[in-house]
Amino acid sequence: MAKLTYRFHEGKKEWKDLLGGKGANLCEMKNLNLPVPNGFVISTEACRNYLIQETKSLSGSLVEEIIFQIKELEMLSSKTFGIGVNPLLLSVRSGAKYSMPGMMDTILNLGLNDKTVHALSKITGNRDFAFQCYCRLIQMFADVVYNVATTNFGTIPTETKTEAEWKVIITNYQKIFATMTGRKFPQDAYEQLLIAVEAVFSSWNNQRAKVYRRIHGIPDNLGTAVTIQQMVFGNYSAESGTGVMFTRNPATGEKGVYGEYLLQAQGEDIVAGIRTPESISGLQEAMPQVYDELTKIANQLEKHYCDMQDVEFTIEAGKLYMLQTRNGKRTPQAAVAIAYDLMTEGLISEETLIARIDEEMIGQLLHPTFTDEAKIETVIVRGLPASPGAAVGQIAFTAEAAKEMSRKGKKVILVRNETSPEDIEGMSVSEAIVTARGGMTSHAAVVARGMGVCCVVGCENLQVDEEKEMASFVDGILQTGDFISVDGSSGRIYLGKLTLNEAETSEVLEKILKICDDHAAMSVYGNAETPRDIKEALLKGAKGIGLARTEHMFFQADRLKMMRQLILAEGSRVDEALAYLKEKQKNDFRQIYQILGELPCTIRLLDPPLHEFLPQDRQELRGIAQELNLNSHSVIAKAKSLAEVNPMLGLRGVRLGIIRPEIYQMQVAAIIEAALEVSKEEEITVIPHIMIPLVGTIKEFSMAKDSCVEIINDLFEKTKMRLPFEIGTMIEIPRACLIANQLAQVADFFSFGTNDLTQLTYGYSRDDAHKFLPTYTHHEILPNDPFQHLDQEGVGELMRMASEMGKQEKKSLSVGVCGEVGGDPVSISFIQTLPVDYVSCSPYRIPNARLACAKAAI
Ligand code: ADP
Ligand code: MG
Ligand code: MG
Repeated sequence: MAKLTYRFHEGKKEWKDLLGGKGANLCEMKNLNLPVPNGFVISTEACRNYLIQETKSLSGSLVEEIIFQIKELEMLSSKTFGIGVNPLLLSVRSGAKYSMPGMMDTILNLGLNDKTVHALSKITGNRDFAFQCYCRLIQMFADVVYNVATTNFGTIPTETKTEAEWKVIITNYQKIFATMTGRKFPQDAYEQLLIAVEAVFSSWNNQRAKVYRRIHGIPDNLGTAVTIQQMVFGNYSAESGTGVMFTRNPATGEKGVYGEYLLQAQGEDIVAGIRTPESISGLQEAMPQVYDELTKIANQLEKHYCDMQDVEFTIEAGKLYMLQTRNGKRTPQAAVAIAYDLMTEGLISEETLIARIDEEMIGQLLHPTFTDEAKIETVIVRGLPASPGAAVGQIAFTAEAAKEMSRKGKKVILVRNETSPEDIEGMSVSEAIVTARGGMTSHAAVVARGMGVCCVVGCENLQVDEEKEMASFVDGILQTGDFISVDGSSGRIYLGKLTLNEAETSEVLEKILKICDDHAAMSVYGNAETPRDIKEALLKGAKGIGLARTEHMFFQADRLKMMRQLILAEGSRVDEALAYLKEKQKNDFRQIYQILGELPCTIRLLDPPLHEFLPQDRQELRGIAQELNLNSHSVIAKAKSLAEVNPMLGLRGVRLGIIRPEIYQMQVAAIIEAALEVSKEEEITVIPHIMIPLVGTIKEFSMAKDSCVEIINDLFEKTKMRLPFEIGTMIEIPRACLIANQLAQVADFFSFGTNDLTQLTYGYSRDDAHKFLPTYTHHEILPNDPFQHLDQEGVGELMRMASEMGKQEKKSLSVGVCGEVGGDPVSISFIQTLPVDYVSCSPYRIPNARLACAKAAI
């Protein structure tokens, strides 16, 4: 029979599967010789055994082991459980592999009954303390085991009372207990313990826990461990207290301890947000020695775990005890800052640093803020900045209402007195969370940081009436549906809608991404053609431009007019249009080269079918005819002749380049002239990369290429200048993949256009696929949308074939990926397995792509 319980000395931090996170870390701390009250852990295996059997009772062997462990604790402590003059009191704590805040509750002071409460009173000489502990046990037992709210009991008296008065109070507590639960409060300590263990086991399957697991993708079959631990008392005297501490600021990542504590308090008083705690710096004054020891231990733990720790501690009569440690939850900002600092402090390697940064963090780090001007006047209340970011939305006062409003597509801000685990679903659909009460470690604050949702807590000047669904502040009231703006970084709440600003790039993130670049095997380029977007791409860290689409340069009014003239007119009017457009394009390319210098830039020649430049409406066509001074009948006829049944499979790409060679020639002339000019002016060597799209045969590529080369040589002759240049092709037709070895003989580079390649490999029209893709993914015909995540088996295999054949044929052939999936981390980790040199994506996706390339290479 496998062992089901483990003394703290027997476990270690790696055993989270078996002992839960809390249990495993308590064991680890014990073995580091830190001051941890003795105890043992009932394994998750015991929980799973319990949950699968129908009778739902604790097995005989488990009960035996538990009794054995209690005897050990009795020996170690010289106290006795449930009887005697020096009673042993225990806490019963739940703890699964993944921390699930507030999901399954703790029972404190277990072992007290009508007899031992007197013994405790006598041996401590503190009657009020003993009875308060007893009150709390009865309350917690009712709450955790029978789901009877603690409010049924009223608050535990804090003033001094006589023996007789306490007796009355306890009798009353037990009466309420009996009425509310239909059972007598168990006097037998072992009975208390076993019932509590069962309750923790069963709580694995309560609704709140299920919802939390669903939201966070935690499997349902892990089970929870139960930690049984000797009590220490933060409510014992004036030199006693309890608190939580982070080794670094969980909101900003700033170095230095950060936390809260309460004197004369027990257990969850802090987390519950009932009494407002003091900042940990207060402890330095109140109990300097304890504070020193605490910070020393916290730093030791941080070094040991190589990560920021979140510790729970209790002070009993001036002596410090550690009750929990774990890797602290933190905001994305803090996560990035802390990981970087730990790396520079030598605690973690660059690889570990990269592993600790994730896509979501980067996304949230680049979160919006409010514009500066909009501030101050409209501030209605201020609270604690619990989780940064900025959000604008409409108020909901209950989680239900939040869900309902978000279903209707509204942006919701959940406003409550405080949140509890029941609110989790409502919190997860909200743009921001605001609470009137609670501190930086209250439920709302912790959960919001975990979700990366903007959050402000402890807004003292806000009175929330959840029943009436309204809130009041100093000069007004708020009702359901009212717009407010919440700044989670400053704690300010504004009336009405503020303008959101794009986030600035963070310096630390920039440094981390540079480290990513060092580790990556593939480079990241940007897809951009306007000066603004190109600058943005470089700012985001692009090493070049992988795709500049020239068709985007023809949509300004004057150019569009000339493009239309080019398409619709004849003879000298066409030449006139070409000359006009060439000058404009040359200017575009000059700007591009001026920004990029010698960084590579791949310019794609005109790709879309010509009819995209024309309206379909006859009336509009007549207007164009008039504007261009052309015959309207022939214009309409020409437009008609350009219409295609399947335009995406029609006269476009290289086909257009062959049917109307003057267009490509014009573009190439503009590119080369611009490159020559800028090279001369800036005294650099611009190397133009000219890309011919939609190639499927060698002949069509060669023909288009030859006509370009002819123009280039003419230009060299005319200007008496030369430049190195490359003419390559997009690989986006399956046939091109099949003949990649031949293509490599004539093309200088390849760039996979995964959008068209996916469209043509599947035979799905990208513009119509939305009609059936959801059904396809729903029925798992496809694992996901292949336009978002590369289809590795099919499209990916074609890419493998083409890139391998291409490189084999020509070693110097550079190969890139410039479709949407070039910015998708999942696709990038696959692309890494191909001989691909770079990926290219939209500027906003570049930071994530850089991270993904590093992760893929490590
Ligand atoms: P949670 O997972 O909700 O944090 P814990 O098991 O950590 O639950 O218990 C909550 C609090 O109860 C702890 O932070 C601590 O203050 C108190 N507590 C738990 N065990 C003990 C103990 N042995 N002695 C004193 N206080 C305890
Ligand atoms: Mg709890
Ligand atoms: Mg805890």
